[in-house]
Amino acid sequence: MTLPEFQTEARAANLDEALGFTIPARNARGRLVRLGPLLGHILSAHDYPAPIARTLSEALVLAALLGSLLKEEEGQLTIQAQTESGIIELLVVDFRAGDLRGYVRFAAARLSDLPSHRDLAALFGKGYFAITFDHPVADQRYQGIVPLEGGSLAEAAQNYFSQSEQLPSVVRVAVDDTGHVAGGILVQHLPEGEEGRDRLHTRLDDPDWEHVRLLAETIKGNELSDPALPLADALWRLFHEEEVRVQGAIALRKGCRCNFDYIRAVIARFDPAERARMVDEDGFISVDCEFCSRVFPLSPSDFED
Ligand SMILES: [Zn+2]
Repeated sequence: MTLPEFQTEARAANLDEALGFTIPARNARGRLVRLGPLLGHILSAHDYPAPIARTLSEALVLAALLGSLLKEEEGQLTIQAQTESGIIELLVVDFRAGDLRGYVRFAAARLSDLPSHRDLAALFGKGYFAITFDHPVADQRYQGIVPLEGGSLAEAAQNYFSQSEQLPSVVRVAVDDTGHVAGGILVQHLPEGEEGRDRLHTRLDDPDWEHVRLLAETIKGNELSDPALPLADALWRLFHEEEVRVQGAIALRKGCRCNFDYIRAVIARFDPAERARMVDEDGFISVDCEFCSRVFPLSPSDFED
């Protein structure tokens, strides 16, 4: 592996970033992500108990891993986990141009039922996992829905790619004991590697993929979530015998589209009679942003010309 000058930059900023890489000779691509301050920023808008906060942190890492695959700058990646009977009723995270946000709806009264070894079934019951890639410029949307199965959200995502996308993948996510730092890795058999070849070459038994998969699976949770270990160094530990091309780091931050003008524009699309029905007893149309736990009270006069 040749280490580009990039590594020195990575040392300076090990948190709230995604690092892209490819292993061309093995037709593999990947992302490494580590989140720090932005987790605190997102979680501080809510008052989630530890297991919920941890699950949201894991989902945010996943959103950063998958979202940073988007080639279109205005593209958006959304992950929704929805259940029929779970303690977590709905989990939503999304990514757009490095902006991450997320929230969880859950049954607080049932949290005491949660076993100490929480797995997906304990949290979500019978659940579904929807991953949506929106490409607004190309006007395309890809959505896949799979049952929420496996020991973790990372495992569910890995199953999603293998089954729904026929894209052999390794996905690992770890949150450190403090809950303040989380990290993850995604490695995939590169679809471009299929060009001009038999589709079977991306099957799980491809020897190049098998090699990359085995190396990727040696990553330890504390390597993903240790802020002292630069992402480029974690990559080096995994693939130092390979020729890895490291791409520029993508800066990540907490971002939401909610602001007064945006909310007002959304409500303005309703006709006046509908708007009148939305006015509450205090005389406002109250619109809340669940991502930010923030309420925007709009007055009917905001819609007069
Ligand atoms: Zn918001």
